[in-house]
Amino acid sequence: MKKDKIVFDLIKDEEERQRLGIELIASENFVSDQVMKAMGSVLTNKYAEGYPGHRYYGGCQIVDQTEQIAIDRARTLYNAEYANVQPHSGAQANMAVLMACLKPGDTFMGLDLSHGGHLSHGSPVNSSGILYHPVAYSVEEETGMVNYDKMEAVALREKPKLIIAGASAYSRDWDYKRMRSIADKVDAILMADIAHPAGLIARGLLNDPIPYCHIVTTTTHKTLRGPRGGMILIGKDFENPWGLKTPKGEIKMMSQLIDSAVFPGTQGGPLEHVIAAKAVAFGEALTDEYMEYVLQVKKNASVMAKAFMDKGYKIISGGTDNHLMLIDLRTKFPDITGKQVENALVRADITLNKNMVPFDSRSPFTTSGIRVGTPAITTRGLKEDQMPIIVDLIDEVISDINNESVIESVRSRVNEMMAELPLNAW
Ligand SMILES: *Cc1c(COP(=O)(O)O)cnc(C)c1O
Repeated sequence: MKKDKIVFDLIKDEEERQRLGIELIASENFVSDQVMKAMGSVLTNKYAEGYPGHRYYGGCQIVDQTEQIAIDRARTLYNAEYANVQPHSGAQANMAVLMACLKPGDTFMGLDLSHGGHLSHGSPVNSSGILYHPVAYSVEEETGMVNYDKMEAVALREKPKLIIAGASAYSRDWDYKRMRSIADKVDAILMADIAHPAGLIARGLLNDPIPYCHIVTTTTHKTLRGPRGGMILIGKDFENPWGLKTPKGEIKMMSQLIDSAVFPGTQGGPLEHVIAAKAVAFGEALTDEYMEYVLQVKKNASVMAKAFMDKGYKIISGGTDNHLMLIDLRTKFPDITGKQVENALVRADITLNKNMVPFDSRSPFTTSGIRVGTPAITTRGLKEDQMPIIVDLIDEVISDINNESVIESVRSRVNEMMAELPLNAW
């Protein structure tokens, strides 16, 4: 068949865009060649509804092995008894857990979406907010941090059946132990969504949710640097004490409830090419090179946060424990919105996203903040010495936001800095 020049030319353009720019979107990363190869392999041709050893299709003897390797490596990486590697995305993983643990209309609690929570934690436009009844805990306006005493008060008042720890724009670590004691007081299931910091948690650079949370969900493509996808983990499998039943009315182990909520509950056939790529990525995450990588991600983030603060920017919570930071533009540039900054920086080949800050006076479409993360630039090979240079470039654009020649000049320096670096520096 004739080569589809239109699409493949666009893929080349996208590769060029990724290579020339400074990628600061906190949820993005650059996968290794091996992860990419596994994703683009013949495994995409295979139907494999079910789980290894129990499939609804023949010819699964090979994908049974690749999926089992992904499961085993995930269990090693997180010291977990159970892993389900089939969720197509982080949102799908969360949807399956909610389906396994809640009945329509049940109350669950997560971080306020405008304070950094994820849309799958109860947004009114997401199934989590349409099918169930979400209530929120929040961060404190003065500190930018979660107040666990107030979280407990909300839990005691609202009696959620499930509580979610974790967020998309929160730069501090989580007290899973405290959250478990809150969950136990109201007999709730505690779930951690570690989509963002999964890689840092895997290598012990942040608190470990596995011993305290009944269930842990994650994406595999953010700090974990695998293919786009999701995963569900259980530290120690247990017979659920809440009397949760399968759609057939059977009371089962938590792992079995999750398995049936993923398939057939919310998904059909698994993406075995992506699962093989997850196996490769988990293997990489177990190496010494990856340990060096996550250490550098964290170092780069803390140096970058300090460089922003030295220039007079306000970082929500005053710093970062992980790979990202949320910047409140209002202290330095009260009249400039996150949207303007995002748009100006894109023209300078610096990509980041506008983000609501807690207690934002602007809408989610304009916002007073930007979110910045270091996972992607660290994969490109940038080190802490280069973080203040990037902050200077960003500050130069924001300080003269409508000046096209400044944007053009920053863009040429960005391109010069990035052009020769490989997309994946290891
Ligand atoms: C990114 C993210 C998700 C969703 O991941 P998708 O793969 O985009 O569905 C879920 N939860 C949190 C906290 C996230 O940051």
